Amino acid sequence: MESALTARDRVGVQDFVLLENFTSEAAFIENLRKRFKENLIYTYIGSVLVSVNPYKELEIYSKQHMERYRGVSFYEVSPHLYAIADNSYRSLRMERKDQCILISGESGAGKTEATKKILQYYAVTCPASEQVETVKDRLLQSNPVLEAFGNAKTLRNDNSSRFGKYMDVQFDYKGAPVGGHILNYLLEKSRVVHQNHGERNFHIFYQLLEGAEDELLRRLGLEKNPQQYHYLVKVEKLSGRKFNNDDHYSLSLYWRVNGQCARVSSISDKNDWKIVRKALSVINFTDNEVEDLLSIVASVLHLGNVQFADDEQGNAQVTTENQIKYLARLVSPLNLEQAAYARDALAKAVYGRTFSWLVNKINKSLAYKDAECPGRRSATVLGLLDIYGFEVFQHNSFEQFCINYCNEKLQQLFIELTLKSEQEEYESEGIAWEPVQYFNNKIICDLVEEKFKGIISILDEECLRPGDATDMTFLEKLEETVKNHPHFLTHKLADQKTRKSLDREQFRLLHYAGEVTYSVTGFLDKNNDLLFRNLKETMCNSENPIINHCFERSELTDKRRPETAATQFKNSLSKLMEILMSKEPSYIRCIKPNDAKQAARFDEVLIRHQVKYLGLMENLRVRRAGFAYRRKYEIFLQRYKSLCSETWPMWEGRQHDGVAVLVKHLGYKPEEYKMGRSVISFFPNLCIEGNVLDYMKL
Ligand code: ADP
Ligand code: MG
Repeated sequence: MESALTARDRVGVQDFVLLENFTSEAAFIENLRKRFKENLIYTYIGSVLVSVNPYKELEIYSKQHMERYRGVSFYEVSPHLYAIADNSYRSLRMERKDQCILISGESGAGKTEATKKILQYYAVTCPASEQVETVKDRLLQSNPVLEAFGNAKTLRNDNSSRFGKYMDVQFDYKGAPVGGHILNYLLEKSRVVHQNHGERNFHIFYQLLEGAEDELLRRLGLEKNPQQYHYLVKVEKLSGRKFNNDDHYSLSLYWRVNGQCARVSSISDKNDWKIVRKALSVINFTDNEVEDLLSIVASVLHLGNVQFADDEQGNAQVTTENQIKYLARLVSPLNLEQAAYARDALAKAVYGRTFSWLVNKINKSLAYKDAECPGRRSATVLGLLDIYGFEVFQHNSFEQFCINYCNEKLQQLFIELTLKSEQEEYESEGIAWEPVQYFNNKIICDLVEEKFKGIISILDEECLRPGDATDMTFLEKLEETVKNHPHFLTHKLADQKTRKSLDREQFRLLHYAGEVTYSVTGFLDKNNDLLFRNLKETMCNSENPIINHCFERSELTDKRRPETAATQFKNSLSKLMEILMSKEPSYIRCIKPNDAKQAARFDEVLIRHQVKYLGLMENLRVRRAGFAYRRKYEIFLQRYKSLCSETWPMWEGRQHDGVAVLVKHLGYKPEEYKMGRSVISFFPNLCIEGNVLDYMKL
């Protein structure tokens, strides 16, 4: 086959495994930089794809490009996410083994774009039929809807996903996509009521105000101007006492200066509104359902405008007459801050549950009607995981704790799947090998999730304890229980030198990728995630069918405490791990080149940080310790037979013998490769100068 690679593709090395100085982070970054400069944003570490966000449209995603990768082996074309997509798809088809593609990286690194591009690749290259077209359409159209409700402008990314997403695409025996299913993780509900300066609330609020026709806005009682809504922009001053000893929270209650950036240059809310409206009908929403959904969005805005004032007894009274009147009755026994707190808790609960309902609704429209076709073999599945990478900010809280815990779990999975599968292959091929040394981060996962003595257990215990539990008593309990753990540290436990870098309300975890210091402030509150009972009751009486669905009566009679946020997350992660374990994984590691969202800027400090927290050097070390290049005899022979007159044009004997003749002819020494029962493997560290790998660089 003709090689599709050009001279430009050869800049640096296409696979970090080929780097001479493979333990050097500087060499790693230099290779990334060289290629990035030439718009070569993709590079492999073995079969892991490293991707650097170009922040500009590249001409590498056309139909012709898709065709170029279709059915073609990894190393014959330049690195691309289409190669990963195609490779997974082919394994799915040929081996009928479920696949998953795990995409990680920090906010703005390009995970969601990669997910969309992979879906588009399948939509274009997979077999089609009329029914399949509908499914493809729905798979693609579910994205703008989820993004409208789950994405927002942040300082890091104008279209930042504020939830984690795992999407299964189901393929029938012909390889056509016939269904899908989405799991969502940890929507950042707090954004509904508060955004940092320069950030926005979820897109849907602005889209609705900008895009909806006047008649609809009138029915929803909304004005066009986002400045009218406290949850969107207005400056709100609340006076009064502190609500609890959580200074951080009450500070943001006193002065709420929300986003103040209704318009973002890179976003057209009006246009996006049209896209979302169309997408909603593609995924089977009736007009009534759309209206029910939007009236919830509107009521969240109205709720945010409910204001309170003290009465003579120091109880809060609703001062905004036209707003939801029943709230007055419901909140009157509360003081001012408690009332505002209850209002915000309600807004968050309503929005969060509606989001989950939306995902369910999309799932119904994507469901594979397998049962309707008895006798048909069940579908094979390809999963796409688009989830936050390690987060290390100046100030790290409960959210970062959950996200980083999730990344520890994914690293566990990587270790289990990569090392285990490699080991199994060597065994089945009868190849002798040295076990790879690596850091097993199970110890950190246990520290977080172990029953009774893990951080989550202790947090839950404090949340359930009646009386005087606070964030600080939680920290003290932690200190008592896990004080000797090598990956845990607090101010009290630290030595004189380290102590300076830790505040009293902080704890530090030594994650597999590096240290992160968390502040316990707000942990109890966020983990409890409670809603006043009478507010729940009111919701149960709602006439809006979606709200009715989201707040079930049984919740009121159920005496058990609802699961805490951390435990819910832990359980859903454990389910996710089970799902992923049963599949063959591929990895895409995304890197953000700069904080300015600009093309052609390669910020080395920032990139070095990501290389570290994505664990790329560790990836590379593990890859190098294994065999970089493994091929079935027939494929190897087919590919390289033209390099040797004895095997060209045809080798008549056993495949094994043909390969032996070929590698000998190419000048390999016996210690540079191993021949198994059906596969030849090369040691990358020995054959950097070797012909085959050099040839592959062509
Ligand atoms: P993440 O999901 O990792 O937070 P996104 O996928 O939303 O990041 O990417 C952030 C922005 O970067 C996108 O809105 C887009 O402008 C740009 N971007 C990401 N990947 C690409 C790409 N492959 N080509 C061009 N622009 C990209
Ligand atoms: Mg995203």
